[in-house]
Amino acid sequence: MDADVVIVGAGPVGLMLAGELGLAGVRPLILERQPRLRETPKASGFNGQVVDLLRYRGLLDRVEAASGRPVVPAPGAPFGGVHLDFSHLADPPVRVVHLPQPRLERLLSERASELGAGIRRGHEVAGVSQDDATVTADVRGPSSSTSPTAGISARPPGTGSPASTSTPPTPITGQPMPC
Ligand SMILES: Cc1cc2nc3c(=O)[nH]c(=O)nc-3n(C[C@H](O)[C@H](O)[C@H](O)COP(=O)(O)OP(=O)(O)OC[C@H]3O[C@@H](n4cnc5c(N)ncnc54)[C@H](O)[C@@H]3O)c2cc1C
Repeated sequence: MDADVVIVGAGPVGLMLAGELGLAGVRPLILERQPRLRETPKASGFNGQVVDLLRYRGLLDRVEAASGRPVVPAPGAPFGGVHLDFSHLADPPVRVVHLPQPRLERLLSERASELGAGIRRGHEVAGVSQDDATVTADVRGPSSSTSPTAGISARPPGTGSPASTSTPPTPITGQPMPC
Protein backbone atom coordinates (compact mmCIF):
# COMPACT_ATOMS: atom_id res chain seq x y z
CA MET A 1 0.00 0.00 0.00
CA ASP A 2 1.60 3.25 -1.13
CA ALA A 3 0.26 6.75 -0.69
CA ASP A 4 1.42 10.34 -0.94
CA VAL A 5 0.46 10.98 2.68
CA VAL A 6 -0.47 8.64 5.52
CA ILE A 7 -3.02 10.02 7.99
CA VAL A 8 -3.27 8.27 11.35
CA GLY A 9 -6.84 8.33 12.62
CA ALA A 10 -10.24 8.65 10.94
CA GLY A 11 -11.67 11.17 13.36
CA PRO A 12 -13.18 14.39 12.05
CA VAL A 13 -9.75 16.01 11.71
CA GLY A 14 -8.14 13.16 9.77
CA LEU A 15 -11.17 12.77 7.52
CA MET A 16 -11.41 16.48 6.76
CA LEU A 17 -7.66 16.63 6.11
CA ALA A 18 -7.98 13.72 3.68
CA GLY A 19 -10.64 15.64 1.77
CA GLU A 20 -8.48 18.76 1.65
CA LEU A 21 -5.52 16.75 0.35
CA GLY A 22 -7.75 15.05 -2.21
CA LEU A 23 -8.87 18.46 -3.48
CA ALA A 24 -5.20 19.40 -3.84
CA GLY A 25 -4.50 16.33 -5.97
CA VAL A 26 -2.67 14.51 -3.20
CA ARG A 27 -3.51 10.84 -2.59
CA PRO A 28 -3.84 10.17 1.14
CA LEU A 29 -4.30 6.91 2.98
CA ILE A 30 -6.11 7.00 6.32
CA LEU A 31 -5.27 4.29 8.85
CA GLU A 32 -7.82 3.87 11.64
CA ARG A 33 -7.43 1.36 14.43
CA GLN A 34 -11.17 1.00 15.07
CA PRO A 35 -12.61 -1.71 12.81
CA ARG A 36 -15.67 0.28 11.86
CA LEU A 37 -17.19 3.74 12.04
CA ARG A 38 -17.66 4.67 15.68
CA GLU A 39 -21.12 5.00 17.14
CA THR A 40 -19.74 6.30 20.45
CA PRO A 41 -21.59 9.47 21.45
CA LYS A 42 -19.22 12.40 21.45
CA ALA A 43 -20.17 15.71 19.92
CA SER A 44 -23.88 16.21 19.49
CA GLY A 45 -23.25 19.16 17.22
CA PHE A 46 -20.75 21.86 16.49
CA ASN A 47 -20.42 25.56 15.84
CA GLY A 48 -17.86 28.27 15.21
CA GLN A 49 -15.23 28.03 12.48
CA VAL A 50 -16.03 24.39 11.76
CA VAL A 51 -19.30 25.59 10.27
CA ASP A 52 -17.45 28.14 8.13
CA LEU A 53 -14.99 25.48 6.99
CA LEU A 54 -17.82 23.22 5.85
CA ARG A 55 -19.55 26.14 4.12
CA TYR A 56 -16.39 27.13 2.23
CA ARG A 57 -16.18 23.59 0.90
CA GLY A 58 -19.84 23.52 -0.13
CA LEU A 59 -20.71 20.83 2.42
CA LEU A 60 -23.46 22.52 4.40
CA ASP A 61 -26.20 21.13 2.18
CA ARG A 62 -25.01 17.58 2.88
CA VAL A 63 -24.65 18.37 6.56
CA GLU A 64 -28.18 19.76 6.74
CA ALA A 65 -29.53 16.72 4.89
CA ALA A 66 -27.76 14.39 7.33
CA SER A 67 -28.93 16.45 10.29
CA GLY A 68 -32.51 16.87 9.16
CA ARG A 69 -32.33 20.36 10.64
CA PRO A 70 -31.18 23.65 9.14
CA VAL A 71 -27.97 25.34 10.24
CA VAL A 72 -29.25 28.17 12.41
CA PRO A 73 -27.77 31.22 14.16
CA ALA A 74 -27.30 30.63 17.87
CA PRO A 75 -29.16 33.06 20.12
CA GLY A 76 -26.28 32.81 22.59
CA ALA A 77 -23.15 30.87 23.47
CA PRO A 78 -21.11 30.06 26.58
CA PHE A 79 -17.66 31.66 26.68
CA GLY A 80 -15.96 30.18 29.70
CA GLY A 81 -18.25 31.07 32.56
CA VAL A 82 -19.84 33.95 30.67
CA HIS A 83 -23.03 33.57 28.68
CA LEU A 84 -22.91 35.68 25.51
CA ASP A 85 -26.33 36.91 24.41
CA PHE A 86 -26.61 37.42 20.63
CA SER A 87 -30.38 37.75 20.59
CA HIS A 88 -30.28 41.51 20.05
CA LEU A 89 -27.94 41.28 17.02
CA ALA A 90 -29.34 41.51 13.49
CA ASP A 91 -26.80 38.92 12.28
CA PRO A 92 -25.71 36.65 15.15
CA PRO A 93 -22.13 35.50 14.43
CA VAL A 94 -22.33 31.90 15.64
CA ARG A 95 -24.06 29.19 13.60
CA VAL A 96 -25.00 25.85 15.12
CA VAL A 97 -25.14 22.46 13.43
CA HIS A 98 -27.09 19.70 15.18
CA LEU A 99 -25.36 16.57 13.91
CA PRO A 100 -24.04 13.77 16.12
CA GLN A 101 -20.35 13.09 15.58
CA PRO A 102 -20.81 9.54 14.23
CA ARG A 103 -22.96 10.94 11.43
CA LEU A 104 -20.46 13.70 10.72
CA GLU A 105 -17.70 11.09 10.51
CA ARG A 106 -19.78 9.00 8.09
CA LEU A 107 -20.36 12.05 5.90
CA LEU A 108 -16.69 13.04 5.92
CA SER A 109 -15.65 9.43 5.23
CA GLU A 110 -17.85 9.32 2.15
CA ARG A 111 -16.47 12.63 0.93
CA ALA A 112 -12.85 11.63 1.52
CA SER A 113 -13.46 8.43 -0.48
CA GLU A 114 -15.11 10.40 -3.28
CA LEU A 115 -11.99 12.56 -3.46
CA GLY A 116 -9.70 9.55 -3.78
CA ALA A 117 -8.60 8.88 -0.21
CA GLY A 118 -8.07 5.31 0.88
CA ILE A 119 -9.49 4.43 4.30
CA ARG A 120 -8.28 1.26 6.04
CA ARG A 121 -10.19 0.55 9.23
CA GLY A 122 -8.91 -1.98 11.73
CA HIS A 123 -5.35 -0.83 11.02
CA GLU A 124 -3.38 0.50 13.98
CA VAL A 125 -0.17 2.44 13.44
CA ALA A 126 2.41 1.14 15.88
CA GLY A 127 5.23 3.43 14.82
CA VAL A 128 6.70 5.47 12.00
CA SER A 129 10.18 5.83 10.56
CA GLN A 130 11.53 7.96 7.76
CA ASP A 131 14.42 8.52 5.41
CA ASP A 132 15.02 11.35 2.95
CA ALA A 133 12.33 10.17 0.53
CA THR A 134 9.74 8.20 2.40
CA VAL A 135 7.90 7.76 5.67
CA THR A 136 7.08 4.21 6.59
CA ALA A 137 4.32 3.33 9.02
CA ASP A 138 4.36 0.05 10.90
CA VAL A 139 0.79 -1.16 10.85
CA ARG A 140 -1.06 -3.86 12.75
CA GLY A 141 -3.98 -4.89 10.59
CA PRO A 142 -6.72 -7.53 10.56
CA SER A 143 -4.28 -10.17 9.33
CA SER A 144 -1.97 -9.54 12.29
CA SER A 145 -2.13 -13.20 13.37
CA THR A 146 -0.06 -14.12 10.34
CA SER A 147 1.71 -10.86 9.65
CA PRO A 148 1.73 -8.54 12.65
CA THR A 149 3.13 -5.50 10.87
CA ALA A 150 3.01 -4.11 7.38
CA GLY A 151 5.08 -1.36 5.87
CA ILE A 152 3.34 1.49 4.17
CA SER A 153 5.46 4.04 2.39
CA ALA A 154 4.21 7.58 2.05
CA ARG A 155 6.03 9.37 -0.73
CA PRO A 156 6.06 13.14 -1.05
CA PRO A 157 3.75 14.33 -3.87
CA GLY A 158 5.54 13.63 -7.15
CA THR A 159 6.12 9.91 -7.01
CA GLY A 160 9.39 8.92 -5.51
CA SER A 161 10.69 12.47 -5.45
CA PRO A 162 11.94 14.44 -2.52
CA ALA A 163 9.42 17.00 -1.28
CA SER A 164 11.54 19.88 -2.63
CA THR A 165 10.91 18.73 -6.23
CA SER A 166 7.27 17.71 -5.82
CA THR A 167 4.71 18.75 -8.40
CA PRO A 168 2.63 21.82 -7.56
CA PRO A 169 -0.86 21.12 -6.17
CA THR A 170 -3.92 21.19 -8.37
CA PRO A 171 -5.81 24.49 -7.90
CA ILE A 172 -8.60 23.97 -5.39
CA THR A 173 -12.09 24.81 -6.54
CA GLY A 174 -14.50 26.29 -4.04
CA GLN A 175 -14.63 29.37 -1.94
CA PRO A 176 -11.35 30.84 -0.68
CA MET A 177 -11.04 30.82 3.06
CA PRO A 178 -10.36 34.17 4.69
CA CYS A 179 -7.19 34.34 6.76
C1 LIG B 1 -18.15 13.06 25.62
C2 LIG B 1 -17.67 14.04 24.59
C3 LIG B 1 -18.53 15.03 24.14
C4 LIG B 1 -18.10 15.98 23.19
N1 LIG B 1 -18.97 16.95 22.76
C5 LIG B 1 -18.59 17.82 21.79
C6 LIG B 1 -19.51 18.78 21.24
O1 LIG B 1 -20.69 18.85 21.64
N2 LIG B 1 -19.09 19.60 20.25
C7 LIG B 1 -17.80 19.52 19.76
O2 LIG B 1 -17.46 20.28 18.85
N3 LIG B 1 -16.90 18.60 20.26
C8 LIG B 1 -17.27 17.77 21.25
N4 LIG B 1 -16.36 16.85 21.73
C9 LIG B 1 -14.99 16.88 21.21
C10 LIG B 1 -14.86 16.14 19.88
O3 LIG B 1 -15.38 14.82 20.03
C11 LIG B 1 -13.39 16.12 19.51
O4 LIG B 1 -12.94 17.47 19.40
C12 LIG B 1 -13.12 15.39 18.20
O5 LIG B 1 -13.44 14.02 18.26
C13 LIG B 1 -11.62 15.50 17.86
O6 LIG B 1 -11.45 14.95 16.58
P1 LIG B 1 -10.05 14.35 16.12
O7 LIG B 1 -10.21 13.87 14.71
O8 LIG B 1 -8.96 15.35 16.40
O9 LIG B 1 -9.73 13.15 17.14
P2 LIG B 1 -10.57 11.83 17.44
O10 LIG B 1 -12.03 12.02 17.21
O11 LIG B 1 -10.11 11.39 18.79
O12 LIG B 1 -10.06 10.81 16.34
C14 LIG B 1 -8.77 10.23 16.41
C15 LIG B 1 -8.85 8.88 15.72
O13 LIG B 1 -7.53 8.36 15.62
C16 LIG B 1 -7.58 6.97 15.88
N5 LIG B 1 -6.24 6.59 16.32
C17 LIG B 1 -5.56 7.04 17.39
N6 LIG B 1 -4.35 6.47 17.45
C18 LIG B 1 -4.24 5.65 16.39
C19 LIG B 1 -3.21 4.78 15.89
N7 LIG B 1 -2.03 4.66 16.53
N8 LIG B 1 -3.44 4.09 14.75
C20 LIG B 1 -4.63 4.20 14.11
N9 LIG B 1 -5.65 4.99 14.53
C21 LIG B 1 -5.45 5.72 15.67
C22 LIG B 1 -8.64 6.83 16.96
O14 LIG B 1 -9.19 5.52 17.00
C23 LIG B 1 -9.67 7.86 16.49
O15 LIG B 1 -10.66 7.30 15.65
C24 LIG B 1 -16.78 15.90 22.69
C25 LIG B 1 -15.90 14.88 23.12
C26 LIG B 1 -16.35 13.95 24.06
C27 LIG B 1 -15.40 12.85 24.50
